[in-house]
Amino acid sequence: MGAAIALGRLGLTNLAILEREDDLGGTWHVNRYPGLAVDIASVTYSYSFEPNPHWSRLFAPGAELKRYAEHVADKYDLRRYMRFGTVVTGARWDEDARHWVVSTEGGGQVTGRYLLTATGFLSQPQLPAIDGIDTFAGRVLHTTAWEDGIELAGSRAAIIGTGATAVQLIPEVARKARELTVYQRTPIWVVPKLDMPIPAVVQRLFSRVPTTQRVARAVSDAILEGIMVSAVLHYRQAKILNKGAAAASKLFLRAQVRDGGLRRKLTPDYDFGCKRPTFSNHYYRTFTKKNVKLETTSIARIEPDAVVTTHGRRTEIDTLILATGFNLWDVNFPAIEVIGRGGRDLGKWWRDNRFQAYEGVAVPKFPNFLTLASPYSYSGLSYFTTIESQMAHMTRLFTEMRRTGADVFEVTEDANTRFLDRMTANLDDSVFYGGSCGTARSYYFNQHGEAALLRPTSTANAFAEARSFPLGDYRMESASV
Ligand code: NAP
Repeated sequence: MGAAIALGRLGLTNLAILEREDDLGGTWHVNRYPGLAVDIASVTYSYSFEPNPHWSRLFAPGAELKRYAEHVADKYDLRRYMRFGTVVTGARWDEDARHWVVSTEGGGQVTGRYLLTATGFLSQPQLPAIDGIDTFAGRVLHTTAWEDGIELAGSRAAIIGTGATAVQLIPEVARKARELTVYQRTPIWVVPKLDMPIPAVVQRLFSRVPTTQRVARAVSDAILEGIMVSAVLHYRQAKILNKGAAAASKLFLRAQVRDGGLRRKLTPDYDFGCKRPTFSNHYYRTFTKKNVKLETTSIARIEPDAVVTTHGRRTEIDTLILATGFNLWDVNFPAIEVIGRGGRDLGKWWRDNRFQAYEGVAVPKFPNFLTLASPYSYSGLSYFTTIESQMAHMTRLFTEMRRTGADVFEVTEDANTRFLDRMTANLDDSVFYGGSCGTARSYYFNQHGEAALLRPTSTANAFAEARSFPLGDYRMESASV
């Protein structure tokens, strides 16, 4: 939607937005599990040009984010471009026609001068390959396929996974289920969530004096940027901050859990930030409830009515909840087959070489193509920072295309290599390479062992480069040449 807004501002309105789901909102449409909320303050987790003065809490619940997405779609008149239930299977650059041919399930085709993929990072659910899982006779729910109105009261539930999703979900399920067993493979760092309702008087102030909300956003941005740049990206120089965050999490755990054995099980053995840290005031405490059990022995198999560990411990359940996250590096980069110039297959090229994308958006041999959920594209504060810096990049690129009368662009090999080298060098200072991340099993790392997801610069740098990248980094051609 951000891309469509940016293109619309340039007068490019002959657009089609192809969407696999049956409605808009992406993550906030698909995810509906109990406890779902954002964990970046909502003043930051929104478009800077479309502030919402009516957030009900500092960290808005999922349904409010979905409504925000609907509001943006309506206000910017984007629904007219959207084709829901359209599953894209692949896209191929047609060199003669100088356009992209996009194939959809059922044999459909859409052609376009330009192709932008905005398929997200966390959009391909990961189902665990556990022996016997198909034989389970009770309810099985992946957190992205929550059934509205599902009744958990009195159930004997198991949750597999202890990532950011599970941290939100576990306290909610524990409140309802008769018994809950949580299967943890890798513990996660959790820090308190300083959440509260935003009083009506503050909402009115945000609405009547928008500058006040901009100030709130600036403060929230600055805090997040400070943490990200110092404790994560400059780990080598600011190790003490990183260690301080881990110490704070341990203190919090100690305050919530008296049992030393349980605390040990819940304590990560990798550095803070290797994996996405999470925020919850209830997570740790939930494991002290009588009806909740933490199981840290691996799962051997699933039977029709039970989960059995490698130690032979058999727990009878009727509801199996898979909080097992998403597959990024095998099936999401890219989420569809994309074939560029000379038959270059983007996914194969990334896997055979290295994952890379100039400024997190463009790839050599892929003309007129911007890939918005790419290696090195995720920029610091929230997805909105990423999107807005990409909107700025697009604006500069398409403005130059118009000025020169070009209709084809392609990033140069040289510009791409320079960017990749710079990102690789920057990562050396980060917790990912300087810290101890070996046991984190973090999806930040790809199959080559590279932390190629986050852009290892400040967001200020991402914005500055989006607005000023050398135009010569793109080769531009017009049909008449
Ligand atoms: P995740 O962080 O990838 O966590 C998946 C969990 O499932 C991990 O604990 C993983 O264990 C476990 N797992 C996966 N396969 C398993 C298997 N075969 N056997 C046992 N355990 C298995 O996924 P997520 O919790 O859905 O979160 C993904 C991302 O979504 C987050 O990092 C965050 O970016 C986003 N998110 C954001 C919010 C928000 O509030 N903004 C909320 C939820 C999610 P290992 O660690 O051992 O692999």
